[in-house]
Amino acid sequence: MATANQDIFDEFLSERGHETESAGWERDYNKKRCPECMGLHGLDAVACTVCGWEP
Ligand SMILES: [Zn+2]
Repeated sequence: MATANQDIFDEFLSERGHETESAGWERDYNKKRCPECMGLHGLDAVACTVCGWEP
């Protein structure tokens, strides 16, 4: 049980890593999501207006 969960967790991490490494922002349809506070912003946002994070 523990090893199966670990495999899923590793897969999750590597998939997330590939997606977030280049862009910085997370994507949600036509929005950007700040990885720090999960705030949603337009695609032209260069920094998070909620917490001040920028890629
Ligand atoms: Zn933020």
